[in-house]
Amino acid sequence: MAWIAAILNAHAGQAQPVAVKGFPRLPHYFSRELLGSARVVVVERVPMPPLTALGLNQFAEFEHADNSGVTYLDTYFVKRDRAHDESLHFHELIHVLQWRTLGPEGFLTAYAAGLEAFGYRDSPLEVMAYDAEAAFRQAAAIFDAEQLVADQLRHA
Ligand SMILES: [Zn+2]
Repeated sequence: MAWIAAILNAHAGQAQPVAVKGFPRLPHYFSRELLGSARVVVVERVPMPPLTALGLNQFAEFEHADNSGVTYLDTYFVKRDRAHDESLHFHELIHVLQWRTLGPEGFLTAYAAGLEAFGYRDSPLEVMAYDAEAAFRQAAAIFDAEQLVADQLRHA
């Protein structure tokens, strides 16, 4: 959490509310409150926590992956080359809701446990985000993403 606080502090000047980006579809899935409070930072490379330096060698692959996005608390980072991809913002906003619902300790505990047991892509919090992102991409029907996360976490 100290590393997260330092990273967010270091990027506070570049962080913008998601609402400022003016994406057309996100407001159909997320509340005005969320899009006004969640923040986005566009970077060349998303900052990953120094897990191996903390002795958590089982997370080396995760730490060194060149991911397109990562979320810490109510702020997420996206790579510049995908900064206009609305689906990526949707995915990271699902993580913002997970952080908010589980709380920082709860999110970190659940995320680490899922990562260790199933790997990045199949960890439960990522499956939730990827499945919701896929539904958003298909755009078959509008749904309440905040309700979806609340329901799925309740049944997790
Ligand atoms: Zn994710």
